[in-house]
Amino acid sequence: MRHGGLRLLRLFAPSYTLQRALRAPRTRVRSDHRQHQDRRPAVADQMPAGKQAMKRPAQRPPAAAKRRRVEGWLEREVAELRRAANGVQFNEKRLRFLSDTKKVKQGSQGVLYWMCRDQRVQDNWALIYAQQVARAEKLPLHVCFCLPPQFLEATIRQMGFMLKGLREVEKECSSLEIQFHLLLGAAGEVLPDFVKDRKMGAVVTDFFPLRLPLQWVEDTKKGLPSDVSFAQVDAHNIVPCWVASDKQEYSARTIRGKITKLLPEFLTQLPLVEKHPHCASIPAKPVDWEGAWTSMKVDQTVEEVEWARPGSAAAFATLESFIDLRLRDFATHRNNPNCKALSQLSPWLHAGQVSAQRVVLEVKRCGSRGPSVDSFVEEVVVRRELADNFCFYNKDYDRVEGAYEWARKTLRDHAKDPRPHLYSLQELEAGKTGDRLWNAAQIQLLKEGKMHGFLRMYWAKKILEWTPSPEEALAIALYFNDRYSLDGNDPNGYVGCMWSVCGIHDQGWRERPVFGKIRYMNYAGCSRKFDVPAFERHYCPGKM
Ligand SMILES: Cc1cc2nc3c(=O)[nH]c(=O)nc-3n(C[C@H](O)[C@H](O)[C@H](O)COP(=O)(O)OP(=O)(O)OC[C@H]3O[C@@H](n4cnc5c(N)ncnc54)[C@H](O)[C@@H]3O)c2cc1C
Repeated sequence: MRHGGLRLLRLFAPSYTLQRALRAPRTRVRSDHRQHQDRRPAVADQMPAGKQAMKRPAQRPPAAAKRRRVEGWLEREVAELRRAANGVQFNEKRLRFLSDTKKVKQGSQGVLYWMCRDQRVQDNWALIYAQQVARAEKLPLHVCFCLPPQFLEATIRQMGFMLKGLREVEKECSSLEIQFHLLLGAAGEVLPDFVKDRKMGAVVTDFFPLRLPLQWVEDTKKGLPSDVSFAQVDAHNIVPCWVASDKQEYSARTIRGKITKLLPEFLTQLPLVEKHPHCASIPAKPVDWEGAWTSMKVDQTVEEVEWARPGSAAAFATLESFIDLRLRDFATHRNNPNCKALSQLSPWLHAGQVSAQRVVLEVKRCGSRGPSVDSFVEEVVVRRELADNFCFYNKDYDRVEGAYEWARKTLRDHAKDPRPHLYSLQELEAGKTGDRLWNAAQIQLLKEGKMHGFLRMYWAKKILEWTPSPEEALAIALYFNDRYSLDGNDPNGYVGCMWSVCGIHDQGWRERPVFGKIRYMNYAGCSRKFDVPAFERHYCPGKM
């Protein structure tokens, strides 16, 4: 809780509930391994859910059965597509130069891709671009990742996921004659010296619009020699964040048209990152993964989960099983936490182990046309890119101050409303409230490292109802989300919590106590949408 504690304290030092909670022993979390004994490769299929609800609604036979696809079909087909896409040009609008010079330093010994958010080799526009530059200059190609001792609220659950994914990156780089380096420390501290020692002539990085990674970029920029070019490629969004819009967008309605108009230009095939033709005179040392593991000063008590295997190969298996098994139910059942209708891709998308562009291309190519494909594209493109837009253009993306004036006013107006219940941080953290559905959702988060998307909204809104102030509610929601969720510490999470607590990207609703005009959700509403007792029984077995 060290970093969480600091952030919470900074936000509302006088809150006695939290100060007390910060001193209290932390809930120890174990993932429930017994729940995850299904067959291995269809990764997301292992997500447990209420048994009753596993009964599918009457539906047509799975697309996979119709086409008799053999497991692994997606990766094989995508490998072919990448090879066939070698003529696809890199769109320069994906790139912005952070240095004055745009030229590769003459007499240098390599081009470096500083991998940060997009932790994959293939389908990565930043690496595709770096390889193009290196080939044009006939230089060796290097990739480095800077591992800081901590990252926001991440625990070993998320850091372990990331590190194991990076091991895959190292292997893949080595098979392509690309030198992979793992540097221990924040980029600003270690990267400039590495660039100078290794005589790199150009540095390319990816784009992560949160404050800390933006600061790393600033620090690195200051430390790099002025004759080394430094460029940033948005390899995470399909339409680069700065191209989609040059300002904070008000809502999905205002950004949707802009993105949709630009999709034909940016939603192209991605060419293969090939075996690099220019070898490094001093190759990278094999990474000391044990040393990397021990260098991390993160909370070890939140255990890693088993249902989500780290790395791009597992991401592809999950995407494949989504297309084969779950996509057809997405439009109709995505708000039912008892149904397996979601992609489950967020851990891999967050860690950059799979590209959203590839996901969309494949869902459009392989999924049968219809409302499910459209609804999925709305989430993975419009909503996801809107979240990046918000964090990039709003420096208060994780504070009530970042909300619209109408929302701040209504929350202020209702700040003194009596709350029906007040729960401490420990009671909330342990899922010990009087609301069994909320407790079940919290336990899903603690054990599985991911809460169903529909419940995330209900869950965060209840925290607003049960804590003394919106500031506290927001900080607690973010803290749990970032600490326990595999996909936490992501713009989507900041926006999800800001939407729930502060009405970001939403509109005003009928005024009511505590919430004011912020959209309200309640238990009865959930009961109308899905079999709530089935979900509760699954995660909170025992007496009703
Ligand atoms: C309180 C709260 C907290 C959230 N925290 C996170 C978080 O930490 N990380 C995270 O990735 N998402 C977060 N979300 C957004 C959303 O709930 C998750 O992206 C989704 O549940 C992930 O599951 P999936 O991959 O199966 O989603 P799917 O429904 O299959 O969607 C596919 C992808 O689309 C994107 N997406 C879906 N819904 C949203 C959305 N509402 N906003 C932005 N992008 C979306 C995600 O990248 C997701 O992986 C949060 C939402 C709320 C309300």
